[in-house]
Amino acid sequence: VIGAPPPSRLLLGSGPSPVGESVLSALAQPTIGHLDPAFIEIMERTCELLRTVFVTGNRATLPLSATGSGGMDAMVANLVSPGDRVVCGVNGLFGERMFDALSRAGADVVAVRAEWGRAIDPAELIRVADQGLRSMVVVHGETSTGVCQPLDGLAEACHERDALLLVDCVTSLSGQPLGIDSEGIDAAFSGSQKCLNCPPGLAPLTVGERALDRLRERPTPVRSWYFDLNLLLAYWSGAASAVAEAGAVAVRAAPRAYHHTAPINLVYALREALELVVAEGLEDRWERHRRAHEALRGALELFGLRRLAPAGESLAPLLAVRVPEAVDEAGVRSALLHRHGIEISGGLGPLAGRIWRVGVMGLGAEPGPQRRLVQALGAELGADPTDALGALEQGWGQ
Ligand SMILES: *Cc1c(COP(=O)(O)O)cnc(C)c1O
Repeated sequence: VIGAPPPSRLLLGSGPSPVGESVLSALAQPTIGHLDPAFIEIMERTCELLRTVFVTGNRATLPLSATGSGGMDAMVANLVSPGDRVVCGVNGLFGERMFDALSRAGADVVAVRAEWGRAIDPAELIRVADQGLRSMVVVHGETSTGVCQPLDGLAEACHERDALLLVDCVTSLSGQPLGIDSEGIDAAFSGSQKCLNCPPGLAPLTVGERALDRLRERPTPVRSWYFDLNLLLAYWSGAASAVAEAGAVAVRAAPRAYHHTAPINLVYALREALELVVAEGLEDRWERHRRAHEALRGALELFGLRRLAPAGESLAPLLAVRVPEAVDEAGVRSALLHRHGIEISGGLGPLAGRIWRVGVMGLGAEPGPQRRLVQALGAELGADPTDALGALEQGWGQ
């Protein structure tokens, strides 16, 4: 490699998260063609693993060639039409962005807001869902605040009204209990670089039958060519669905339509990252994230850093803590990066300068990296880390 290498960092911010050796090795495997039968097998395995991780039987499940934000644009472009009445939960930056994307798509959007740092009462979302509702959209894991949105009753309320329930699960996927089918979610998207520990650049997307019907019934074509699911599915799962329907091996050879050149090596990396998630077991992984979050919360409290989200509303993969007035928020964060090689994130919008956001994502949700963070934070805050380290160990022991 001729260019200078990037510095070594422990990524404990809001994303990207740490990428493990085997995923990096997968990324460095030789590039092959995007229509090569060997690549198509890798695609099929990747989609199958994604179904396991989303806990869904949805045939339309694939990694979009885009970051998480592209997943949002794709979901909106395909499933929302101009004039649609849409209810959107907004309690942080990603809800604000969703509201913006829906408005740009020409939807008649009603925002149901909660303070940044609090969940939205599902009853509030249901209260404004009238008979003409077409979709309800919520952010399951609000990464700007570390809040997990309860989904109780939302699917029932939507389906009674013939509306779709659409969910951003970029940060929650594989780090917080979530089942697409059991929650009745009609479409959801994620990102490769949060709890999946893959480099950024792919957006897992899953779309159920009800949403596919909506797509077929669109009064106007999908405005985005790149994100048109009709075209994408012909490449990603055209043959896969043909196999399922016909049950014949011969159909496997059905030609896949060239749509765009998939980022081959990123797909290798995602496949490897998903193999690791599935090998660990989804339930065990959710439990590890919960434990890691609680252990770190207990440790940071001893430095006077209290969690922003109340108990019962917190998001395991992201711990947001209030920074006391006397602490130089940006200064300490910068010292962590430059002196200790550890990245954590600051606050956004109304919380800028007031919170730190610590990622508890996949490889970051382990005692080793958390110990390093607690030690470095102690040094930068001028606090003895012994008690905090003890609390961390105790948290992991529970
Ligand atoms: C990170 C994130 C996104 C955006 O993903 P990018 O990969 O940065 O485009 C969207 N929603 C949530 C909740 C996120 O955490």
